Amino acid sequence: MTRVHNFCAGPAALPEAVLRQAQEEMLDWQGCGLSIMEMSHRSKEIVSIAEKAESDLRELLNISDDYAVLFLQGGASTQFSAVPLNLLGDKGAADYVNTGQWSKKAIKEASRYADVNVAASSEDTNFSTIPPFEQWKLNPQAAYLHYTPNETIGGVEFFWTPQVDVPLVTDMSSTILSRPIEVEKYGVIYAGAQKNIGPAGLTIVIVRKDLLGQAQSVTPTMLNYQTAADNDSMYNTPPTYALYLAGLVFQWLKAQGGLSAMEVINRRKAEKLYGYIDNSDFYANPVEIQSRSLMNVPFTLADDSLDKAFLQQSEEAGLLNLKGHRSVGGMRASIYNAVSEQAVDDLIAFMANFKKTQS
Ligand SMILES: *Cc1c(COP(=O)(O)O)cnc(C)c1O
Repeated sequence: MTRVHNFCAGPAALPEAVLRQAQEEMLDWQGCGLSIMEMSHRSKEIVSIAEKAESDLRELLNISDDYAVLFLQGGASTQFSAVPLNLLGDKGAADYVNTGQWSKKAIKEASRYADVNVAASSEDTNFSTIPPFEQWKLNPQAAYLHYTPNETIGGVEFFWTPQVDVPLVTDMSSTILSRPIEVEKYGVIYAGAQKNIGPAGLTIVIVRKDLLGQAQSVTPTMLNYQTAADNDSMYNTPPTYALYLAGLVFQWLKAQGGLSAMEVINRRKAEKLYGYIDNSDFYANPVEIQSRSLMNVPFTLADDSLDKAFLQQSEEAGLLNLKGHRSVGGMRASIYNAVSEQAVDDLIAFMANFKKTQS
């Protein structure tokens, strides 16, 4: 068996140790004689798996009892509507910051429910920058402010947290667990699992408890945070196997030394790759230096007629999913937690070799 290096933006690489443990436990989980997938979500086994996953996530992110942790379905995209439905209250208005394709989708969906004020946008720089906070034009009527701290497609990341008087809402799908965050600065944190948490099918929402119970009356029961909070995320059948795998990822992260240790590794990986790109006249990254994503590294070749050859040869070299998003073209290497430093080293070596064979 050969495992390749997978640079996919999502669903993304999972730690090999996690996959191996899942493989070992597939048919018979801890002597129960059946698979996790075959168990009732009300069984003591699944309840214990969910409780352990929650307590490990709380430990990793240092989440206080002021917050509920919800295990949901529907992906981050469902949260684009759940957020306004749960948080608008009687205000009817919300602030959004537009820093890329995922911000745009959140704005579009929220606009169906809310009077959306785009407080700042970096569209004029083709989403290669983050608008400075001093320039944001906040609406005093807004019920909350929503932003996307890591734009998975553009490769733009915030390394500062907006300070506002209203609840701060954040789509952390592609940055959660890559480094420590200060949860208490946020009202709602949400993330689809398939980047840095586990397999697709699970969505995590971390919500400050005082924000529960204000959903619009038309809110579907399944989108109301209160429903999940009141039922330990078991109002209906949760994605039990995805939750189990996420739990294994949390245990793996703890064994790596937690999020501070991951940040050191992730910064080293990103610095190496950006450093190599910047030092070559063959590759380029368009993002302003202080806002470059630690997780998603888009890059272009000086001559885009070589893109096809680059992708074909990288695949042959066991470096998969380097094609950039269709909206930006070029390449993108997603280097989430489960993508090893060795994978990044191998990518850089490949890039150097490819460049040499072209000149
Ligand atoms: C992947 C991604 C999404 C979409 O997630 P789904 O779970 O597929 O809905 C939304 N926002 C960001 C920042 C993402 O990276």
